[in-house]
Amino acid sequence: MAVRYIRKDNDPALRQKAREIKEITPAILRLLDDMVETMDAAQGLGLAAPQVGIPKRMVVVRMGKNDLLELINPALISREGKEVDVEGCLSFPGMYGEVPRSPEVVVEGLNREGKTVRVKGTGLLARALQHEIDHLEGVLFVDKVLKFVDK
Ligand code: ZN
Repeated sequence: MAVRYIRKDNDPALRQKAREIKEITPAILRLLDDMVETMDAAQGLGLAAPQVGIPKRMVVVRMGKNDLLELINPALISREGKEVDVEGCLSFPGMYGEVPRSPEVVVEGLNREGKTVRVKGTGLLARALQHEIDHLEGVLFVDKVLKFVDK
């Protein structure tokens, strides 16, 4: 495994639309491992493949030491409500802003075994999932910030 360089600010890799993963190969699994290691090294809550310069649809989210989510081709199935809260992004170190998100979402994707998994997220997990899935479309949290704040 390896910690990868996280693309930042105006890096064009962050604006690319990520492509669907057709086959879960050993290289894909290695990338997934690297993404987890990179996220953990940076003490982040989540990371999407475009942030390490790979335009593929995969995200990792960590809500706790033993609470790791790895999703390949994640899709937002449903969302409910709207809530404004402060968030940041490993690609924009030191920047925080108030972003409206749905506090309840259902996301579907594949796990590393290629099995379809359905994740129901609320609160911070719902926010993290929406933030990471946005990355796959080249959409960044700074696009959605209502107000930048100091943290
Ligand atoms: Zn981000």
